[in-house]
Amino acid sequence: MGLKREVSKSVWSKSEKLQCGDHLIDIHVHPFLLKELTEKRPELLEGTKAYLGIKISPQPLETLVRQMEVAGVVKAVLLALDLTSKLGCKLPSNEEVAELVRMDPDRFIGFASVDPLQGQEAARQLEHAINELGLRGLKLHPPLQDFEPSDPKLRPVFKKSEELEIPILAHTGMTWQRSCILELSHPMLWDKVAMDFPDLKIILAHCGWPWAWDAAVLAMRHPNVYLDIANTYTGTPSEHLSLILTEMMPKRIVERFLADKLLFGSDFPYIELHKMAESVKKLPIADEVKLQILETNASKLLGLLL
Ligand SMILES: [Zn+2]
Repeated sequence: MGLKREVSKSVWSKSEKLQCGDHLIDIHVHPFLLKELTEKRPELLEGTKAYLGIKISPQPLETLVRQMEVAGVVKAVLLALDLTSKLGCKLPSNEEVAELVRMDPDRFIGFASVDPLQGQEAARQLEHAINELGLRGLKLHPPLQDFEPSDPKLRPVFKKSEELEIPILAHTGMTWQRSCILELSHPMLWDKVAMDFPDLKIILAHCGWPWAWDAAVLAMRHPNVYLDIANTYTGTPSEHLSLILTEMMPKRIVERFLADKLLFGSDFPYIELHKMAESVKKLPIADEVKLQILETNASKLLGLLL
């Protein structure tokens, strides 16, 4: 505990006297290459290589925990990914995510994934994942799961998510995978869903880059739409984040319209948590807004008391 505090403080103090706490929440962590899972199910390695193009070696859960401590992250959302219909695999499954959460329930929150094209069956699986496995959100990936968000087949899953009061974290924006249709990840495809399900909280991942303005107007227009800042498509975490949040969208817009909508996410294992955290702290925006992005917005959204 003592070490955790010291490490966290030293990271904060590097970034020009920023008066932030050390209670960051990382809303976007992929556990598919954690050794605890790959050792039991080696197909995870093949699946991530084949469908996500990742060549990173598996790491023990302890590595993620250390990264959290160094970055001052106290809670991380672990995402399942159900690609059964299109690709015949789960990267990882709801049960595997639940198993990881059980290893350290103070630190981890699990989001389930279902194939939303399965309609009522998907809604049933989701209910099981939330009520029986203890997961607390839903992860969807339109291009990899090959669906359009406005497809009526998805309504049972959205309705069930609204009823269960869980947020949906949806991939939007760039994907390097050439085997799937990029257009399906356009953030504007969530406009109608946000209208039709006003109590459903929708997090548009990656700020929808390169359609960051489209994602931003949805967050401005709909009280139930949020944005996460995960990934660094165009360079270092700092380069990419400042491209989205101060070059594409000026500071004025970020501070005035998006302060309570932006959520910190790393996209681990692609990016080290502390590098993403540092890139937020370096942004030329108000300190209060950085605190909202790193901690408060997610704690409110997830109903956490930190
Ligand atoms: Zn991701």
